[in-house]
Amino acid sequence: MTQKRIAIFGSTGSIGTQALDVIASNPDKFTAEILTAQTNDELLVKQALQFNPNCVVIGDERKYQSVKQALASTDVKVFAGEQALEEVAAMDCYDMMLAAIVGYAGLKPTLQALSNSKPIALANKETLVVAGDIVMQKALEKRIPVIPVDSEHSAIFQCLVGEGRNKIEKIILTASGGPFLGKKPNFLVNVKRDHALQHPNWSMGAKITIDSATLMNKGLEMIEAKWLFNLQPDQIQVVVHPQSIIHSMVQFEDGSIKAQMGLPDMKLPIQYAMAFPQRIANDFPRYDFRKPNTLTFEEPDLKTFRNLALAIEALHKGGNMPCIMNAANEIAVYAFLRNRIGFLDITEMVEQTMNKVSFIEKPTLEEYFESDAEARNFAASLIQM
Ligand code: NDP
Repeated sequence: MTQKRIAIFGSTGSIGTQALDVIASNPDKFTAEILTAQTNDELLVKQALQFNPNCVVIGDERKYQSVKQALASTDVKVFAGEQALEEVAAMDCYDMMLAAIVGYAGLKPTLQALSNSKPIALANKETLVVAGDIVMQKALEKRIPVIPVDSEHSAIFQCLVGEGRNKIEKIILTASGGPFLGKKPNFLVNVKRDHALQHPNWSMGAKITIDSATLMNKGLEMIEAKWLFNLQPDQIQVVVHPQSIIHSMVQFEDGSIKAQMGLPDMKLPIQYAMAFPQRIANDFPRYDFRKPNTLTFEEPDLKTFRNLALAIEALHKGGNMPCIMNAANEIAVYAFLRNRIGFLDITEMVEQTMNKVSFIEKPTLEEYFESDAEARNFAASLIQM
């Protein structure tokens, strides 16, 4: 395998730092060429000093000077601001983008990388939730692969390798159920931020951890799966599997089911996407079938975790509805993390915004941007000052 130059958009996050661990463990296979952060200038500088990339971007322009000064003795180029993310995505110095920015902010740089014919290792699911049709169309036009990093989608992708044109009957996305599995609304109404931030199986960034607690994450993943694997909504099923050992499954038209399994560790899907089609040896802990262990499965509780029901509605409705839902959810989760709203208010805000913002069946990219802005404004107006 020739050395692959990776551009990590969102290098200071949970996915970004784990991707750098993978690069550090495989210096013969990967280099880090672009690193980006939004506000965490200290970690960005530390990463730049360790990995000596071609350039770094700090989103928050007020931090440009401090990053520039800290890297003055190196030849690392320093850029700042939202626009710079797109500019560096258009550069030629890298072979693959790891899209690991959280939220809607990841969409434009990813589209730019595709326009620039760069393969994508996609962690940023919101990109496909917001504008999946446009993103996948661009990838198709350019004949550029979008390889999932999300563990469930990586599992499905791995199950599909070697299946050529064999028809998928359905995919089964597994969900851990999050920290509040089995709880009812009378419990959830009192849930506080710190409790919701404790995920039983995965250690992740704050936004996705809250999304996992509300099950919105699984809804976002259903929409992500629709675009990645070109599925109809009815072909996508969710099953709660609290042990997170089976990462997801594919059922083919002959009824045969393939599953991808392992201990939960995001480094595995990250390195799989970065090295695809090769696998790389590692010493991550292994799952041991000889140890007592029970794998269980149950239906998700859509009545309690209504975010998942709303996401299923958005999945079926299509158009700009997933984009509207995503925008409202980003605002609501942001507000919840700042103790401005309660746990169940997240769902209320998402539902009200979905009912309010005008539906467009076949939006243009511009219309997606407008729907996102309109939904954010409306959702923000629902938060009591
Ligand atoms: P984190 O919050 O840990 O990291 C987000 C990264 O994006 C940071 O580098 C952050 O910079 C940067 N960032 C935040 N806001 C902006 C912005 N407005 N513009 C540009 N950059 C920004 O998130 P995760 O790593 O957990 O998740 C990243 C993506 O991967 C999400 O879409 C998530 O759904 C997906 N994902 C994550 C998994 C996980 O295990 N963590 C699993 C599967 C998918 P800074 O540090 O400076 O704020």
